[in-house]
Amino acid sequence: MARNADVVVVGAGMFGSAAAKYLSRSGADTVIVGPPEPDRPAAARLSEFGAYHDESRIARCLGWDRFWGTVDSRSTARYRDIEAESGVGFFQECGALALIAASLREHTDTMLRTSEDDGVTVDRMTAADLRQEFPGLGLPPMNGGVEGLLERKSAGHLNPRHLVRAQLALAQAAGARLLRATVTGIHRDGPAGPWHVRTQTATTGATVTVRADKLLIAAGSLVNHNNALPRPYRLDLQTFTEPNLLYEVADRHLPALQDLPTVVTIDPEDSGDANLSAYLLPPLRYPDGRWYLRIGPAMQPAVRELRTTDEIHTWYARQRITPQQSALLSRMTKVLLPGLEPVSVREACCVVDKTPTRYPYLGHLDKDKSLTVAVGGNGHGARGSDEIGRLAATLVLGDRWDLPLSQETFAPAHEPGAAAGRPDYLRPPYGLC
Ligand SMILES: Cc1cc2nc3c(=O)[nH]c(=O)nc-3n(C[C@H](O)[C@H](O)[C@H](O)COP(=O)(O)OP(=O)(O)OC[C@H]3O[C@@H](n4cnc5c(N)ncnc54)[C@H](O)[C@@H]3O)c2cc1C
Repeated sequence: MARNADVVVVGAGMFGSAAAKYLSRSGADTVIVGPPEPDRPAAARLSEFGAYHDESRIARCLGWDRFWGTVDSRSTARYRDIEAESGVGFFQECGALALIAASLREHTDTMLRTSEDDGVTVDRMTAADLRQEFPGLGLPPMNGGVEGLLERKSAGHLNPRHLVRAQLALAQAAGARLLRATVTGIHRDGPAGPWHVRTQTATTGATVTVRADKLLIAAGSLVNHNNALPRPYRLDLQTFTEPNLLYEVADRHLPALQDLPTVVTIDPEDSGDANLSAYLLPPLRYPDGRWYLRIGPAMQPAVRELRTTDEIHTWYARQRITPQQSALLSRMTKVLLPGLEPVSVREACCVVDKTPTRYPYLGHLDKDKSLTVAVGGNGHGARGSDEIGRLAATLVLGDRWDLPLSQETFAPAHEPGAAAGRPDYLRPPYGLC
């Protein structure tokens, strides 16, 4: 069976669903292709894994630099409209706290100046202020002490599953067609002909080919491993473990924990597995009906690179974090929430991607600009995904680029290692996750 479209979006996750909304609202006949979330990770194919298969992502406007601050602020300003238009709630405005090593003061000053320019209000707090406002929260013992940056408004956490559902509903309302399928191959009729996207549906296994003038590849962290890129393209994009511990919280302990903001800790010390960079989300009700508080490492040495398709598959299928990761996350939980008495603790494994620039790739791969990519959330693409999807749609449509940074900054680098001098992703500075 064959279908036609102006644009095929490969990947119905955070970037793809937002882009499909903007493309279809601009009048492009859009097909978005992506499998549903797998029921059992152990039995899933790589293309079925998504970084949004969870209940919470930190949402914040304060960015490590101008790019992230801008995309995150622009997206956050639209959350309530997306909720109202789609009828799907996803944003909890509980505030976001960054606990930053005092030795990073110069960078902290710059971040605050940038956020002020963007109209983002951030309270700068001393350790004494923090103890007074959050008596149950411990402060990590970083060299020179920590200071707190607290965003009380337009910050907290979002439910990435619900946000994707909302964006897909809005895309479909604007005319996009959603194909619940996996892309198994892409080829082109000659250098200027249409693209042929071969798909296999999730439920029946039936194959459908969609023919389109343009392609947007938004297939996430595993894009080099999941048949979503036409040959011979391969992006300079590295994949890292994202280990989490989920602490089940008893109902009687919820009132003391539910008012916490989201927390990230930024430790610039190059101290190997003793590094204290982490993030913590307050308890949320998960699909099994229980309440879990979630902790994970920010970018730091306990994170590990996954280099091959086999390594990635094993990491997902086993859902077992390493003993070092477990020790770090247990330790950080004790530091941040010394009074916590969990009912149970469980492990969860996902992945994040890193680009050499630490920015997403938003650009064309081919000369005639019919093949565009939007990948590389760099571990914190969820909160800015609406703006990242809008920028991707802008590129596909050939519209004006309206970011304060040049579009060249986001040009996708092919060939892993092609960028001069591969960065050491597991050494400071790590940035705000
Ligand atoms: C544990 C964890 C915690 C995180 N915490 C935060 C946070 O606090 N704040 C934040 O802002 N961000 C956070 N992130 C990052 C954020 O979730 C990602 O940056 C974001 O999801 C990236 O969006 P994406 O569209 O690139 O990828 P995804 O959302 O993963 O979407 C990619 C989609 O492509 C589909 N796909 C793949 N191959 C194919 C194929 N062959 N055919 C069709 N479809 C295909 C996949 O099934 C998937 O649905 C976190 C990520 C993880 C893993």
